[in-house]
Amino acid sequence: MPANIVVLGAGVSALTTALLLARKGRYDITIVAKHMPGDYDIEYASPWAGANYSPVGKAGTLLESFERATWPELARLASDLPECGIHFQDEVIYRRAKDVGTATGAWFAELTREDAWFKDVVPNFRVLSQSELPAGIDGATSFTSVCINTALYLPWLASQCLKHGVILRRGTASHIADAAAMHHSGKRADLVVNCTGLSSLRLGGVEDSTLYPGRGQIVLVRNVPKTMVSISGTDDGSDEATYIMHRAAGGGCILGGCMQKDRWESQPDPNLAIRIMKRCVELCPDLVPEGKGIEALDVVRHGVGLRPMRTGGIRVEREVISGLGGEEVNVVHNYGHGGYGYQASYGASQAAERLVEEALQPKARL
Ligand code: FAD
Repeated sequence: MPANIVVLGAGVSALTTALLLARKGRYDITIVAKHMPGDYDIEYASPWAGANYSPVGKAGTLLESFERATWPELARLASDLPECGIHFQDEVIYRRAKDVGTATGAWFAELTREDAWFKDVVPNFRVLSQSELPAGIDGATSFTSVCINTALYLPWLASQCLKHGVILRRGTASHIADAAAMHHSGKRADLVVNCTGLSSLRLGGVEDSTLYPGRGQIVLVRNVPKTMVSISGTDDGSDEATYIMHRAAGGGCILGGCMQKDRWESQPDPNLAIRIMKRCVELCPDLVPEGKGIEALDVVRHGVGLRPMRTGGIRVEREVISGLGGEEVNVVHNYGHGGYGYQASYGASQAAERLVEEALQPKARL
């Protein structure tokens, strides 16, 4: 008999984990989620992401191992499956000495290193020569990355899950143990995979108080830059950032951004939007025709997403949790992906998959 699994959530973490499990062919899986691909909501981080592969995990950490493990699969999708909405893009990372010690400087500390661990993971990594640096820049690297059109990739992941027999359902669980009763068979699930992102802060049975929002504001434009660009900081505030990501397949270009700790505001701040657009045009003048400014940006939408930050980093762990009625539920957590949910998606989901397999060994089953 295949084991019954409920995957709670339908962001990039849930869909990737469900797909890896479904490909095994030995589980009967229901995805239950409040928000699904196609929705735009402040409680749903995944659609708002750039999203590209710009590793930030420090060498030797779990995040580094997840990011390292994810690159080969993103590269395979970009080269072999155009229908995923992922393409290769050249990326340039600029570093300014004065950004050391700022919030964004700390966030991009690994990304801006000239001897970054990922120099042997991504293709074409190189340190730019002094003569290639624009004014005010102290160092730079470039490499081949990918950029994901989240409006195509999330539905693609969902359709791959459907192809492998996964059932998708709308639903909201107030306690993680409730999710076990939401399996499409009508029977109780043998295991729940918790991929609820920032909502695990309040989800009954989890209530992880080490989660907090890292608010990100973006502008999606139709303009096309020649390369993706990021920089170690700005002169507008410690938690403001500048990055430009060109999405695949007509997905437009994402201009960012910021990383505002503990800020829950769902509406774009118009002043911040102007600062973002100005900084992006300054950093990447080829976004607009020569001599033009932000008036030449063709805006699709302004947006805000809350990155599911977690003090201890991504949580991929097994736990047995008692429901309100005392019934025990086998849970595998996969949440807290901060600003790296796509670039760590396969590594984290593979780790979650291993924990599911362990938990469903005959001896370990509840
Ligand atoms: P979410 O996408 O938030 O999904 C949570 C899911 O759980 C939703 O389906 C929700 O409905 C469901 N849910 C929650 N509670 C319940 C409940 N009680 N019952 C039922 N369902 C529930 N990452 C990168 O790798 N590269 C980038 O370039 C990048 N850029 C970013 C830019 C911005 C502006 C932002 C905001 C994020 C960016 N990220 C990037 C980070 C990335 O978007 C997140 O890490 C990732 O989307 C988290 O995905 P998730 O599936 O864990 O959570």
